[in-house]
Amino acid sequence: MKPFVVAIDGPAASGKGTIARNLARHFDWPYLDTGLVYRAVARNLVKKQLDQNPRNAVREAKDLSIEDLQQEGLRTPEISQTASVVASIPEVRETLIEFQRNFARKGEGAILDGRDIGTVICPDADIKFFVTASQEVRANRRYQELMSQGEGVTYQEVFDTLVERDLRDSTRKNAPLVQSEEAILIDTSNLNVKQSTELVIAKVELGLRDT
Ligand code: C5P
Repeated sequence: MKPFVVAIDGPAASGKGTIARNLARHFDWPYLDTGLVYRAVARNLVKKQLDQNPRNAVREAKDLSIEDLQQEGLRTPEISQTASVVASIPEVRETLIEFQRNFARKGEGAILDGRDIGTVICPDADIKFFVTASQEVRANRRYQELMSQGEGVTYQEVFDTLVERDLRDSTRKNAPLVQSEEAILIDTSNLNVKQSTELVIAKVELGLRDT
């Protein structure tokens, strides 16, 4: 049987990862955070002290394994920025398509979140969401998260890097962050985690009933 694929796209700190994890727990389906794919390529480049040129980045993308996604240090501000630079290289994205599609082929259902899941990776997904929130709300969430991890950053620094990353992710030529036509828009600016999760679960349950 073809798995029921849920595609969740949206900008940084929109809440898509939390929703996706809760959804995975609720339905007991595997979940792939595709941001980790780009983060792992970035981290491997930094670890090996390699230049972030397309040739090195493609080689790291080709060598990527699922274990690389579990390594430490993938969520630092430095890796967030490097991942977004690496992700704007078309050959890197091309190399990583199959890695992500293979994941979507396993099991009864699969949940993938990222920037181009509904548009490029799984255009035939059974249900698509676009999760977003205002830049101020997202920057504040990221700031609180970094503070709790003991990172010495100011709100303004977090806001500025988030704006820079949003701009790079949504204006790049290849697979930019856009809301696909069929995607259900979820604005989490005024919703808590429980409300956003319940909303998405209800939509998926409706979708499952229709298939
Ligand atoms: O989602 P996360 O913030 O972890 O993603 C890190 C970076 O990876 C993003 O800023 C984006 O540039 C890139 N990315 C992407 N396509 C995806 C997932 C992430 O370009 N599907």
